[in-house]
Amino acid sequence: MEFDERCLKVQEPKFDCLLFDLDDTLYPLSSGISSHVKTNIEAYMIEKLGIDESKIENLGNLLYKNYGTTMAGLRAIGYNFDYDEYHSFVHGRLPYDNIKPDPVLKQILKNMRIRKLIFTNGDMIHAVRALKRLGLEDCFEGIICFETLNPPCLLTPCDQAPEIFDIAGHFAGLGSADDLPRTPVLCKPNVGAMEAALRIANVNPYKIFFDDSVRNIQAGKRIGLHTVLVGTSQRVKGADHALESIHNIREALPELWEEAEKAEDVLYADRVAIETSVTA
Ligand SMILES: [Mg+2]
Repeated sequence: MEFDERCLKVQEPKFDCLLFDLDDTLYPLSSGISSHVKTNIEAYMIEKLGIDESKIENLGNLLYKNYGTTMAGLRAIGYNFDYDEYHSFVHGRLPYDNIKPDPVLKQILKNMRIRKLIFTNGDMIHAVRALKRLGLEDCFEGIICFETLNPPCLLTPCDQAPEIFDIAGHFAGLGSADDLPRTPVLCKPNVGAMEAALRIANVNPYKIFFDDSVRNIQAGKRIGLHTVLVGTSQRVKGADHALESIHNIREALPELWEEAEKAEDVLYADRVAIETSVTA
């Protein structure tokens, strides 16, 4: 009976997987990477899509706000471009040296005997590069990224919409967000993207989701995740915890270590029991 109870504890932990956003979550906003990303996206819109420079700021804000990423919004309103080319333009020239190795975080992650996955809207090349700079490339079971949720771009020139949807005019005319064209791009905080990530991570409700974006955290909460907002100690609606830095995981979530230690104790006890029965 005692043995069954111990087994039950191992099979039903409170948490079984941690999902981590990457940018501005595993490294700080102060690296300046996200402001370079914004600048590069704006350059792409002007140079590659021919959008008037005077419209960029307002358009970028509207797309980001309504579609999760500017790229998802650009595709929704009718622009056609190659996803790989976009990512290489936006991420290829980032100052990755600004991301510093983080041996403290590496030790924290290594000590957490629980499945860990990256869940980012970024592309795989960017994710791998950033993780390598942090020295965390061997700390995660896998990376759920842009390519995981979006099939290869097989667009042809005729896929370009005959007319670009005027999103600024739509809102200026008091149009509703519900009437916006849909995007083919799946990304956070879209609930479909969150659910797809959970399926890939092997569905189970006992997951913790770390992200620096309030709207991503709120989307995570809507689908039942335990949520940790990173980058601020101010909790918001939808966040179960708020951490100024990812380094504070242990203080905010001591149960993670308790679960791991309990599981380890049971495994150790079983191992001793098996070894004893073999030698007896
Ligand atoms: Mg982020």
